[in-house]
Amino acid sequence: MSDTIHSHDPDCLFCKIVARQIPARVVYEDEELFAFHDIHPWAPVHFLLIPKMHIPSLAQVDHETAGLMGRMMALVPKLALQEGCNPYPQGGYRLLTNTGVEGGQEVRHLHFHVMGGTRPWLRG
Ligand code: 5GP
Ligand code: ZN
Repeated sequence: MSDTIHSHDPDCLFCKIVARQIPARVVYEDEELFAFHDIHPWAPVHFLLIPKMHIPSLAQVDHETAGLMGRMMALVPKLALQEGCNPYPQGGYRLLTNTGVEGGQEVRHLHFHVMGGTRPWLRG
């Protein structure tokens, strides 16, 4: 079930976080997007930005979800600064989305990692 697009997957960790069945430190929420702190941060700022809809990965994104992806990416600069990333160009942040097993994806609900803050970082 978790490998197709639908509104909510009862077996999905991030769908459970969106539904507040599992606690998380929420950064942002609107009708279609949700952001929360990563439980194992690599950097002083490390949060995950996800669509509320269960899209398993970037591999399922196509023209139908392109608008949503654009709105998701357009939110990154605002949330990054809000969460404490230093301003561009001396500051900045890293945007990462792991896709599939060989891409290093562990949670099968599309997520953008947003990482930033003063270096050194733990990883990345
Ligand atoms: P992936 O490896 O799939 O790109 O990233 C999954 C991310 O989700 C990891 O960075 C991991 O630390 C984070 N994560 C896994 N389980 C939880 C959880 O229960 N709560 C939160 N906030 N983050 C989680
Ligand atoms: Zn999900």
